[in-house]
Amino acid sequence: MALLGGKVVALAGGVGGAKLALGFARLLPPERLTIVVNTGDDETFHGLHVSPDLDTMLYTLAGISNGETGWGIAGETFHALGMLGRYGADTWFNLGDRDLATHIRRTQRLSEGASLSEVTSELCRSLGIEHPIVPMSDQQVRTYLKTGDGDLAMQEYFVGRRSEPVVNCVEYRGVAESSPSGGFARSLDGAEMIVLCPSNPLLSTGPILSLPGIRERLSEKNPGRCRIAVSPIIGGEAVKGPAAKIMSELGHEASCLGVAKMYGDICDLFLMDEVDRDRAPAVAELGIEPVVAPILMHTEEDKIALAKLILELGGSFLNGG
Ligand code: GDP
Ligand code: CA
Repeated sequence: MALLGGKVVALAGGVGGAKLALGFARLLPPERLTIVVNTGDDETFHGLHVSPDLDTMLYTLAGISNGETGWGIAGETFHALGMLGRYGADTWFNLGDRDLATHIRRTQRLSEGASLSEVTSELCRSLGIEHPIVPMSDQQVRTYLKTGDGDLAMQEYFVGRRSEPVVNCVEYRGVAESSPSGGFARSLDGAEMIVLCPSNPLLSTGPILSLPGIRERLSEKNPGRCRIAVSPIIGGEAVKGPAAKIMSELGHEASCLGVAKMYGDICDLFLMDEVDRDRAPAVAELGIEPVVAPILMHTEEDKIALAKLILELGGSFLNGG
């Protein structure tokens, strides 16, 4: 099978997105890959701008991420957080000592007038990451969950409340007044493949797709471009995190089919796990081509294999099967 030869844009959140993005980064040269990352989870802690999904992506591609927790830096210590606690600060959001340096640097550069895109590319360069990682927007978008316990910002809900409150509605505050970052918008020009990584469809790809003009651009029919999504839901459950819980609370079917329905107008091929094979005909009825494949990634080999399969599928799709 011929591998796709053109440019790839990967739309991603944190952990699930970074797994697949790492696979692409191992296979593609920097000029053929742009990784666009959700910033709806960004939050200010201790006066510092924290971008959890960007940081997960950065640390993963830099090879310094903590594979056990899925967030933060390997071998991290938490002395600064302990001291902040002694001063009476809220310490429910775990920030390690090395991780804090990222947020200090980001906040300083933002206060000097740099954009989040500029700061991110500086951090990438310093960490030896060659592939472009771009924030979805340079403006502020904040994901809020309306719950029985009130309106909770994403990190308050996810970390502070362990995703327990029942969600009635998800809002991407500020999204209508924001625009896609320049790097994101440019990456879509001439992209041969757009990949919706196996990220949370409501909390990670949702904000990205809600930026003005993005859904329209992705839904345009274009025979020179392939749009592929990978299900984050396997056997009715999220591999990790609250995706299935929130989907069902919001009236979506908590399954790969429920995800495929959300991506119906912007997806040509949909990758789903073997255990979900019985859902393939229903996915096909949406006008999306279902592809049953091993989409659970444990090792780096798994991530590379899935990225390679996606490049092969994209190549065949563009060459007429
Ligand atoms: P977050 O921002 O850190 O929550 O990360 P994402 O939104 O990018 O990823 C979270 C989603 O990734 C969850 O819904 C998981 O089910 C999914 N996920 C994690 N690991 C895997 C995997 O190996 N394969 C697939 N298909 N999905 C995964
Ligand atoms: Ca996230």
